[in-house]
Order: sequence, then structure tokens, then C-alpha cells
Amino acid sequence: MTAIAPDWRALAGTVRYPTDLLIDGSWSRGAARHEVISPIDGQVVADVAFADAVDVDRAVAAARASFEDGRWSGLAPAERKEVLVRWAHLVNEHAEQLAVLTALEMGKPAREAKAIDVRACHRTLRWFGEAIDKVLDEMPSVDPSAWAMIEREPAGVVGAITPWNFPLTLETWKIAPALAVGCSMVLKPAELSPLTALYVAELGLQAGLPEGVLNVVNGTGAEAGAALAGHPDVDVITFTGSTATGRAIMTAAAQSNLKRTYLELGGKGANIVFPDADLEKAAATIAWAVTYNAGQMCTAGSRLLVHQSVKDEVLDRVLAKMAQMQPAHPLDDAAPIGAIASQRQLQNIHSIVSEGLAEGGRLLMGGAPVMTETGGCYYPPTAVDDLQPDSLLAQKEVFGPVLSVLTFASDDDAIRIGNATPYGLASGVWTNDLSRARRVSKGLRMGTVWVNCYEEGDLTVPFGGVKQSGFGSDKSLHAMDKFTSLKTTWIELS
Ligand code: NAD
Repeated sequence: MTAIAPDWRALAGTVRYPTDLLIDGSWSRGAARHEVISPIDGQVVADVAFADAVDVDRAVAAARASFEDGRWSGLAPAERKEVLVRWAHLVNEHAEQLAVLTALEMGKPAREAKAIDVRACHRTLRWFGEAIDKVLDEMPSVDPSAWAMIEREPAGVVGAITPWNFPLTLETWKIAPALAVGCSMVLKPAELSPLTALYVAELGLQAGLPEGVLNVVNGTGAEAGAALAGHPDVDVITFTGSTATGRAIMTAAAQSNLKRTYLELGGKGANIVFPDADLEKAAATIAWAVTYNAGQMCTAGSRLLVHQSVKDEVLDRVLAKMAQMQPAHPLDDAAPIGAIASQRQLQNIHSIVSEGLAEGGRLLMGGAPVMTETGGCYYPPTAVDDLQPDSLLAQKEVFGPVLSVLTFASDDDAIRIGNATPYGLASGVWTNDLSRARRVSKGLRMGTVWVNCYEEGDLTVPFGGVKQSGFGSDKSLHAMDKFTSLKTTWIELS
């Protein structure tokens, strides 16, 4: 039986959501108001509260008070689990509302937002909720005259600063483990995606999250984000966003209270194709890996690094598949890809492509905004050839559906070029030779290497980068380490 697609347009007209700041369990109007402009058509979607430093201070104070009095941190893990699992179910029940809001605020197809983002939000809350009462502390065997315990204690007040490309997914990757271990939080979502964060937080209150445990302060990075990163009473900052902002956040942390800082930053993923690979499967996946979410992914497979002997064959197939990934209205259930998140992002993409072409790159497809008559922000699949490993388009993160084509001659060459960017987030290796797969994936300095696939994984495996892609992984049981401190208690026995 074929499932009937939701009527996304009707839902877009009727969905209701909070627009104020969530501080101490109450909605407050905040220092300023801000219009959310949809990249679908340039129309105003909502008017939301934007916080200033005073609002952020109130949110941190609420989080601190809730942490210190133990209304959440003092619960048994099994009790926190009940709330997180209930919250996960509510997210599922509101999947279509959350999906349509994601489409309206940042332009991805509502169908995809439901299948990927909302599902990730649901699963992450449930997974960390269910995990927390199974994680045990340690008791090492020491000298019999003593009794030693190593306990994980919640780190305190966590500030989370997140981007717009997968708003629900990336926020929940931080919220779920931090709340599961007993921390209280202040979330500062991206300017472009404030609505889904507020909606999901309201569901948290309905699920029984005590007041003040999760506070949401929308606002600009320069004001609300900087106030949170530099706040003297925040214990941990967890951030996903650009490398430049990561640098500013680390500086603010160092200059304030030396809060622990975890950064998930940019990337310049390569799909490395060897002649012995399943070239048809590789080509289809590579075309998808650079166009999915309109290429607005830190892990986007934005470099095709192909062995020179199969370049033409692979490239022809990749281009044919990419040509099918044209942008369309995000509320159309069949849209292959949606809009770019903002005019600013659209201009960024286009200016990097133009600079890359001016430098000598050869345009194979795309290369200029489309659907301009809609008033929205749309960029077609774009591919550029004749690049060198040090070319701008082979080095710079574009964050759009833009593929840079490079070749290599040997395995060592592939590893060298694969590693030759400041980033180290993720890449793909395509080969049917197990020894080569192991050797090349071992040689790549990346947080994740996919072999004969791309973007695969689940909550059991960590996600994070090395080099200037950051440090401190989201997902998996390891994510809880970021939000806990190790405490040793050594008891001398009499
Ligand atoms: P961004 O760095 O501009 O913004 C991210 C967040 O930081 C936003 O909430 C913003 O308001 C805030 N911010 C901006 N300036 C700040 C400051 N001075 N102090 C504190 N907060 C500040 O990034 P973006 O444009 O929203 O997202 C795109 C970037 O995110 C890309 O570089 C992409 O690679 C990266 N990203 C990384 C991952 C990952 O997991 N590694 C995932 C998604 C996106």
C-alpha cells in the first residue's frame, strides 16, 4: 500500500508554534523581535523573540537554579529516562508539524525533514533516555585499606549553540545526552531556524521536563551566542557551526571562566573512487552525497577524488545522477532537493563558485541561482573540473550542491590529496579490495570514513571531527563524557 503524502501546504498554513523565549519554564518576549523569512519564497513566516545579554543571563540563572536544587539533576536516572522517552513519543506525534516548520524556516523538503530530522530527534531522545539507567560508574580494586569510587557527575549548566542545516537533529544530539546525565541547559539555536527549537522545547515541557532545565534563547550569534559562550556561570559549551565561529567561542570560553568547549565544525569531504569499485553504486551515492540537503552539510561529499583511469566513466555517471537532483518547492512531496537556507547563503555559494571558475575551474553543470521568480533561494547541482588539490574549490567549504572534481594516480596519492585540507570530518572510500579499504581509511585523518557508502551510521557510533573540523563527538555513549565530570572518592577504611 502506498502511503498518502501529507498535505504540506495546508499544514504550513495552520501549524501553530511558540515564538517567545523559553526561560525558567515561561515564555517571555525578549529584548527584540525578529522576522523569520522563508527561503522558499522570501515571505515572512513568523516574528520571534530575540534575546540580548540580559535575557541570556536570566536563562543561565534559571538553568543554574534548576541544576543546584536537584529538581532534575537529583532524580534517579530511571526517572529522567521516563521524561525523555515520553518527549520522544510526543516528537513522533508532532512529526508533520515539526517537518513543515523545518521546511518553512530553512527550506529543506518537508518530506525529508520528516524522514530524517524528525526521526533523528525522536530516536536521539529515546536512545539517550533509554541508555542513561544502564551506564554504570566504576569501582577500581585498590589497596584493601581503602575504597575508591569513580563517578560521573553532571557537569552543571550546558550552553548549546547550533546551526540551521539540520536544526532538530543537531540540537537533539546535544540536548539528549546533556539532559540524560542530569545537566541543565540553555540552547541558542541558529537565527535562521528558531521555530523548530521552540516547538520541540514546548513538547519537552509537556513531557514533564521541570521548569528551568531547558531554556531556549533565540538571538544573533554576535549578541546571544557570544553572551552564552562568554558567560561566567556556564560550565560547558557545545557548539556546531563554522570553524570561524568555533574559534570565537573557544576564545570567549578561555577569556571568561575556562568552560569546557566542544566544537563540531566545517568539512571538505572527499569520495575517493578506485578502479576496482562498484562504479554504478559509487556514482549514485556520490551524486546524492553532494546534493542532499542542497549540499548544506558539514559532511557533504564535496570533492570527487577519482583514479585517473576511470575518471571519465565515473564522472559521466555522477553528472547524470546529479542532473536529477534539481531544486523544487520544499512543500512538494516529490522535491529532489529544496531551497538554500537564506539569500546570504545563496550569495556565498555563488561567489565561491564564481571565484573557483575565475581561478581556472571548468564548469560542467549548474553554476548560477535558479527559480529566482519564486522570491526564494535555489541553487542547482553544480560540478567543476580541472581543479588542483590546492584550488579554492578543492579547499574551501562551499555548503551548497557543488562538486569539485580531482584525480589521483596511486593509493598514497589518494590519501595525500584526501588529507590536504585544513578539515578532518568525513570522507568515503570506494573499493572492493578489503586491504586497500583498510589501508586508505586508516591513512585518512577524519572523524569518520565510510567504505562503499556515505552518510551511514546510527546512534551507537560517534560523530565528530579532527584537525579544524573540531573535537568532542556527538552521538554514542561517548557523547555523555562531554556533559559529565569524573569524580574520585577515596575512602580510607579504619
Ligand atoms: P555559524 O558558525 O555562522 O553559526 C552557528 C551558530 O553559531 C549560530 O547559532 C550562530 O548564531 C552562532 N554564532 C555566530 N557567531 C557567534 C559568536 N561570535 N559567538 C557565539 N555564537 C555565535 O554557522 P552556520 O552558518 O549556522 O552553519 C554552517 C556551518 O556549520 C558550516 O561551516 C558547517 O560545516 C558547520 N556544521 C558543522 C557540523 C558538524 O557537525 N561538524 C554540522 C553542521 C554544520
